[in-house]
Amino acid sequence: MPTRASNRTITEKDVDSVLHPYTNLKRHPEVGPLVITRGKGVRVYDEAGKDYIEGLAGLWCTSLGWGEERLVEAAARQMRTLPFYHLFSHKTHDVGVELCARLLEMAPVPMSKVFLAGSGSEANDTAIKLIHYRSNALGLPHKKKIIAREKAYHGVTVATASLTGLVNNQRSFDLPIPGVLRAGCPHHYRFARQGESEEDFSSRLAAELEALILAEGPDTVAAFFAEPVMGAGGVIVPPAGYFPKIQAVLDRYDILLVVDEVICGFGRTGKMFGTETFGIRPDMMTLAKGLSSGYAPISALMVNERVYGPVAEESGRIGVFGHGYTYGGHPVSAAVALETLNIYAERDILAHIAKVGPVLQEGLGSFRDHPLVGEARGIGLIGALELVADKTSRAPFPPERTMGAKVVARAQDKGVILRAMGDAIAFAPPLIITEAEIGDMLRRFKAALDEAHGALGLG
Ligand code: PMP
Repeated sequence: MPTRASNRTITEKDVDSVLHPYTNLKRHPEVGPLVITRGKGVRVYDEAGKDYIEGLAGLWCTSLGWGEERLVEAAARQMRTLPFYHLFSHKTHDVGVELCARLLEMAPVPMSKVFLAGSGSEANDTAIKLIHYRSNALGLPHKKKIIAREKAYHGVTVATASLTGLVNNQRSFDLPIPGVLRAGCPHHYRFARQGESEEDFSSRLAAELEALILAEGPDTVAAFFAEPVMGAGGVIVPPAGYFPKIQAVLDRYDILLVVDEVICGFGRTGKMFGTETFGIRPDMMTLAKGLSSGYAPISALMVNERVYGPVAEESGRIGVFGHGYTYGGHPVSAAVALETLNIYAERDILAHIAKVGPVLQEGLGSFRDHPLVGEARGIGLIGALELVADKTSRAPFPPERTMGAKVVARAQDKGVILRAMGDAIAFAPPLIITEAEIGDMLRRFKAALDEAHGALGLG
């Protein structure tokens, strides 16, 4: 009866059945999958029982680590009481309401309302739609262009992948869609001019942003999207003075600021939100990942009154705000998110990050002497090491050498899972990581890096 034999291994079934995200599909049958079977704390285990420290908290999301029973209980309780309901057409449910109210209380700047969705992409896509809707409501139908930055990551839907400033999210997908403008990437190490201070670099980026807006026509530009620390673009911490200078330009031309806190939200940069760490005043904020510690899919978009007011007016005129996802505000996800926020508060996660964040940053800093490392950067519990072919000239390795990917593959052999973005190796472990576990993670990584260096024939 079954056409596919049921006694095949997971690896065989995987190769036969799964279309993998972010994978070289052509090479996958030959590379094969790493089958992860369980997790505990900051570690996950493969089929053979080998342990890996999860240096990226899965996909920057599993902030409380694996095996947090309180989240399991919260999901089970909600499953029994109300496994599904929605927030469409004047309906509501207690956990959805409680979550929105809690997020408004936590908001670092005054926010008016919260829209719940299922993923970071959906939250950002919703922000894009609200920008259009609002401009129409205000009688400004030409004010629709959106600025995002080189190396930005805002998701992979048609619209959010258009904001994402990474070539592989657009190449061959016929993206970007029209109406997206590109601003410079605030990576001082790579893009500052010889001798340019961080403040001067920030001033130049702000001046370039203003020139772009003036060239396009300020009355055609609606919004600017930014991650506080750029994540998938390579963990890029903004240079001194960057956000205040950018914000001043946006204010001058009445351009909304959307802050994508999908990675930075909930402690990653040392404060509850990256917005606080860098002194930003967003009109909209998107949240996901750490919101439920990755245990259930959920995201949130917070909007201030400047956005909500016209949007509500327009929906009144049309008769409905015609947007919403079946799983937006899913009660099980909302219950898990509420319990996650309870745990962050009860265990004072920010105090823990204040203790272990410097241990991670000093540990990464100690790699500055390594012959392969050009830059060590980071803040709080997020950081990256950038590999270079020449430390003095900062010359990168040719992309076809895939140095970053090779080092990450060796690191996996040594028992630490990390992510290479080009030749930047990202570190964003679960927020609960201890000092000893950080030491263990960096020792495993150093063994891999030394081995990669030796293999170059340079060491
Ligand atoms: N924004 C940022 C900053 C992200 O890092 C991500 C995911 N890595 C997204 C948006 C998209 O989130 P999702 O994958 O949940 O759609």
